[in-house]
Amino acid sequence: MLQPGDTIGILGGGQLARMLCLAAAPLGLRCHVYAPEADGPAFDVCAARTIATYQDEAALADFASRVAVVTYEFENVPAETAAFLAARVPVRPDPAALARTQDRLVEKTFIRELGLDVPAFAKVDSLVELEAALAAIGRPAVLKTRRFGYDGKGQATIREATDPADAWAAVGEHPSILEAFVPFTREVSVVAARGLDGTVVEFDLCENVHRDHILAETLVPATARPETATAALAAAARIIEALDYVGVLAVEMFVVGEGGAERVLINEIAPRVHNSGHWTIEGAKTSQFAQHVRAVAGWPLGSAERLGRIRMLNLVGPRAEDWPSIAADRSAHLHLYGKGEARPGRKMGHVTYVESVAASEKDRAGASLRMDRPGSI
Ligand code: AMP
Repeated sequence: MLQPGDTIGILGGGQLARMLCLAAAPLGLRCHVYAPEADGPAFDVCAARTIATYQDEAALADFASRVAVVTYEFENVPAETAAFLAARVPVRPDPAALARTQDRLVEKTFIRELGLDVPAFAKVDSLVELEAALAAIGRPAVLKTRRFGYDGKGQATIREATDPADAWAAVGEHPSILEAFVPFTREVSVVAARGLDGTVVEFDLCENVHRDHILAETLVPATARPETATAALAAAARIIEALDYVGVLAVEMFVVGEGGAERVLINEIAPRVHNSGHWTIEGAKTSQFAQHVRAVAGWPLGSAERLGRIRMLNLVGPRAEDWPSIAADRSAHLHLYGKGEARPGRKMGHVTYVESVAASEKDRAGASLRMDRPGSI
């Protein structure tokens, strides 16, 4: 168990690391951020820093000697880096969890073996395999690279008229999987935490709206039948336990409606704090960042109780230029990540609105009345 004054090492210097540092400080814990880029948003708010590549063994060894535990803000930490550090200092979550979630084929196979639902998928290593997979899965389908995909990068949708060769070229002919296209009614996520003692605490189901493959908006509670939310939370709990995970992870899912009933299909696991959990900073008793810090420090987890009805908007690219009007809105919790240029697609900040509990209770009563009408979802 870390003591106040101890230091948590974080691999990665982006906004997630920045918000982890900001959550560690009130608990009396320091953060040492390790990242290759000198201009990471986390460097503004950390107690110590290392700017070095993930292959620099001298820098990694020095970092390991200065921290009580290592965690990370992104899933693509090289396996060798994680193993090198794990030989010297506890790494939480365990690098084995990374290995299961870095590769979409390994990840989907793992989830399916847990008895949970995923879209139909097949391994694709060549154009010939892609054609065979298309014959088995049908169209439309989505071709995704097995590794290093995020925010829709490394993906190609194959519709009726798409030439498979074009899709194969679009993913750079990298090892991939072909997935059935899911005609989802909603995208949702579960942000879950597991402590060193095995306790699991989950935030309420989040509903996510993407624009150009990037998260645009999160609404909580998600519009979903109560049994759908229960099934989604149970699936995420099953995953976090099976990974023997310590820390926060997010499970992204599709909700599909089937003749008035609903089903969840799991899309992917993000082994880290997640954009769809940013609302927890003001909207829950314990934020996802504080929860992750508590977990990796070996502390008891906090309460995930939600404090109202939530709307979180990402400030992507030039949208962040609206900050003065958001700052003037007394109901808005504005977060800016301190990044320089507002390039299109770049996550510059977010804003959270928490509607008071009394108002949201009324709203929820309305929502459940609406849901009681068959087929009205
Ligand atoms: P991913 O990188 O797998 O999270 O995919 C990014 C986004 O692409 C998802 O949030 C969905 O909006 C969309 N998407 C991914 N896979 C599928 C699928 N099999 N069917 C329909 N839409 C998908």
